[in-house]
Amino acid sequence: MIKFETFYYQCPRCKCWMEGHILISSMVNQSILYSDGKILNDGYITEHQKMIVCPACNHWSWVEKYEEPHITKKKPADNFYTWNSWRFYGVHFGSNEGRMALVNHYKNFLAKSDYNRDQEIYFRRMMWWAYNDLVRNKYQINIERYTSKEMSFKVWYRNRKKILQGIDLFLVHHDEYIENLSRLVDLLKSRYTPDDEEFESTNLDIIEMYRQLGDFNSAKKLLNGTSRRTYFISTIEEKVEEKDDFVFLVTG
Ligand SMILES: [Zn+2]
Repeated sequence: MIKFETFYYQCPRCKCWMEGHILISSMVNQSILYSDGKILNDGYITEHQKMIVCPACNHWSWVEKYEEPHITKKKPADNFYTWNSWRFYGVHFGSNEGRMALVNHYKNFLAKSDYNRDQEIYFRRMMWWAYNDLVRNKYQINIERYTSKEMSFKVWYRNRKKILQGIDLFLVHHDEYIENLSRLVDLLKSRYTPDDEEFESTNLDIIEMYRQLGDFNSAKKLLNGTSRRTYFISTIEEKVEEKDDFVFLVTG
């Protein structure tokens, strides 16, 4: 069973309340990790949504940490908006249309708003994930998926159709995908120096970003410069050799 802690957030402009939930990580049964860093715990994204757009007045605010005084656990006396009405900006990204709507949300936001470098890194990473959501479960289209799991042919076939449509959409928008990811790599390269604690992990992120950009030579160069050898890194290496530029399932 999934356990959540409930919190409340008040819009700084119109003062309306929003309800949200935080997954209690110790209660998680299954964690899935993808190569772009997205983690699903029992099917849920546990990463806090740092940008909150008020469903009443459309004001956006940045919440770095989900702790007092920014959020409260005390239930307000007034009515509040439910999590679904503001989470992912009201987009339901279970369908390919919803996934594109989430991409477009970030795209419009980046074009029209003011933000600093760290915020841009966040938005572009989220946009990268939203694009990848279209092809994230590409591995499920294999027939082995149907034969090895207890799944009816109909369910597998319907899922496969949806994934194939997602791949088509992804390819249609591939230029914009590349534009966003290239900008993210540039931002990350200018953000951290070798003195920063985040430098090494960011470097690993950049290797995977180069691979997903189809820039296999740059990925190879950075791979040769890293001494770390994990299952994740050797899988990236294999994919670079195969010239495969899709996001993949690391564990789960
Ligand atoms: Zn508001």
